[in-house]
Amino acid sequence: MLSGLMATAAIAGCNTKNNPFAPGDSQIKASGETVKLLSVDGEIIEMDKAFLKPVPDLPAVSNSEARKGIPGKKFVMVIDLSRCKNLKKCQSACNHMHQVHPGQNWIKVLSMEESDHTAPYWEPTTCMHCDEPPCVKVCPVDATFKREDGIVLIDSDRCIGCRFCMAACPYTTRVFNWEEPVLTKEVADQPYSCESSMPQKKGTVGKCDFCPDMTRKGQLPHCVSACPNGVFMFGDMNEDSVTNGAETFRFSELIKDKAGYRLMEDLGTKPRVYYLPPASRSFPYESGLENENAADKKNQTK
Ligand code: SF4
Ligand code: SF4
Repeated sequence: MLSGLMATAAIAGCNTKNNPFAPGDSQIKASGETVKLLSVDGEIIEMDKAFLKPVPDLPAVSNSEARKGIPGKKFVMVIDLSRCKNLKKCQSACNHMHQVHPGQNWIKVLSMEESDHTAPYWEPTTCMHCDEPPCVKVCPVDATFKREDGIVLIDSDRCIGCRFCMAACPYTTRVFNWEEPVLTKEVADQPYSCESSMPQKKGTVGKCDFCPDMTRKGQLPHCVSACPNGVFMFGDMNEDSVTNGAETFRFSELIKDKAGYRLMEDLGTKPRVYYLPPASRSFPYESGLENENAADKKNQTK
């Protein structure tokens, strides 16, 4: 009913060349260019572009909502190794958007080679958001937890910095915040949210969070959007669909057709990150970039 009224109003607005939602006489004139929109009731409506205005950011969710996750979702990531050129756009976007400590990276791009005579390739690694996460089992204060949508997060307000989780993670994905973070004023002033993982705090552990604040808004994680080669695909296992923003795939078919696999499956951690093998590469492997990961190695051995 409501959506029917909205559609009628939108069409009426287009006909009269005035904004039907503005109070009084509107100065906004129709552009003549219309866009189709999906209403909250799932109906397609048409609207003149000139009458659109940005919706302010959603209010931050409560801590209990952040710990519960987004109902009905089971997030999953696919990383296509045949497309990675080690551009590290994923890493710089992640570092920038989460204000990760200088010298630390939540995404690492590793140089891999199976044996002496096989071709090397680049392997981006994130938190695997394991369904059986060893990190969660060892945390003595319930600071790191698994949500019902599959995402593993850390609540820095609870974290006591014992680093048990770092020792338990077989993927070496967690980093310890040894120093005070370098934050913009805007981020420093905002209240801490475990869903945005910001602001980061000295003496606590950080890691890839699958950008749940973005997914709650229906947007892709930063690494996915930043990669120009479409290496990262993100989606919902319940919908059996993943996308890199430009292409969308049926998740089950992609994994089956391209022989997808997970890292260290034999450990029983059940990662939610799948890899597609580096076959039929889009780019040749360029050596000489391996030392760029020196900061990661230093952080892990501290
Ligand atoms: S990859 Fe490591 S940090 Fe991430 S969920 Fe698995 S065990 Fe935990
Ligand atoms: S470092 Fe923090 S998140 Fe990790 S086990 Fe200790 S309290 Fe839990």
